[in-house]
Amino acid sequence: MASSELCSWKEIASYLGVSVKTAQLWERDRGLPVHRPAGPGGQVRAFAAELDAWRTRASARPETPAVLAVESTAAAETEPGAEPAVLTPSARVPRSLMRFVWLAAIPLVIGVILLVSFVHRRSAIPADYRFESHAFVVFDARGQELWHREFRSRLEPQQGPGGTPAARTAQFRDLDGDGVPEVLFVQQPVDAFDPDRALWCFTARGELRWRFQTRRRLRTQDKEFTPLFRVLQVAVGPIVRGGPTKVIVASIQVPWWATQIAVLDQNGHLEREYWHSGALYTLELGDANNDGKAELYAGGINNARKQATLIVLDPERMQGASKEGDAAFQLLDQLPPVETARLFFPRTCTSTEQPYTAVRQLAVVDGHIIAEVWEHPYGPNAPSVFYTLSPSLQTVDVAVSDRFRVVHEQLQAAKAITHALTKAEINGIRPTVVSHGGEARPPGTKP
Ligand SMILES: [Zn+2]
Repeated sequence: MASSELCSWKEIASYLGVSVKTAQLWERDRGLPVHRPAGPGGQVRAFAAELDAWRTRASARPETPAVLAVESTAAAETEPGAEPAVLTPSARVPRSLMRFVWLAAIPLVIGVILLVSFVHRRSAIPADYRFESHAFVVFDARGQELWHREFRSRLEPQQGPGGTPAARTAQFRDLDGDGVPEVLFVQQPVDAFDPDRALWCFTARGELRWRFQTRRRLRTQDKEFTPLFRVLQVAVGPIVRGGPTKVIVASIQVPWWATQIAVLDQNGHLEREYWHSGALYTLELGDANNDGKAELYAGGINNARKQATLIVLDPERMQGASKEGDAAFQLLDQLPPVETARLFFPRTCTSTEQPYTAVRQLAVVDGHIIAEVWEHPYGPNAPSVFYTLSPSLQTVDVAVSDRFRVVHEQLQAAKAITHALTKAEINGIRPTVVSHGGEARPPGTKP
């Protein structure tokens, strides 16, 4: 990167083959990517790769003749504010000849524009990303930087706070069905209270399509929540096979536990929402029962019960706020909940002393739902239990991690428990299935 960095207007202009004045005009009028470090005396900087990308982009737009310009440097210098000259005709060339040159040039120009836009379209497909301090940087499949976006706070997106599961930080998904992916980006600033944090949707070329932020005021009987939220997880997909793509976002209030699940359309407009008393770290859209319509599975912590929970929702019908037995955790002023089902995973010997347990991972595979429950809410290295559930949410299999066995042995050695782990004990670990909101209970489940 360092070798392709240009550190002054002179270098930038020389790289572009134009005058300093023109380069400055292009920055002002045409979005030439020039960086200005904050503070007095900061030198302008530019990156050759970005200038190339800008030039390619500019040449694909007929009104921005950056590449095709046969530029008269003197003209641009003497006419401040003038647009860069395009094929400036010399006064000495007869007018008829000029017309001929113009006509002859048109197919060539169109050809070049088509070629450049084709090559650019091919190469401008986002395939990878990286964080560089405050910047979210997007690359194509060859590792060429396509664009980047700077944020006010430093980005720290690789894992959730306290070892909690991280959101899918960036996803390249075709939301509008035009064959080119959009870029969904969960901005996770180091500053937990950064009010600008959001879910961003950019085009493949880095133009902002929309951003989503939950800004809801909520209360319980004795608590008022400030309207500051952090995105916990994002899931993308159609609800109905072949239907429009939806973006489903879980956001938690900072620093408490009220969590919203929002269904957004491809333009970022809120279609439905459901509120839950506790963090939901995992979101999966999946058609486990194979009826052509995806269910939404959301896993995390129920704060009222201090227990791992899995909520099954119909993303086209869900609404309201979860009903909690403990009034201190009941979100008020919301509609009655519409849920398909809620599951609560039991405490085990390894979690009796823990403040919470949490669903850490969810997968919908071959018509089954697999949930991994962390017996310690904040990892790393938590003992865990794996539950395999049928589409009707009956427990098909229960397995424990090696770490679970180790912790169980340690507790036994420390005389915190007085028995060895057996297969029967593992098989006896079963979630409770509850359904709410007037919805029919899935067939075969016990209340
Ligand atoms: Zn035990």
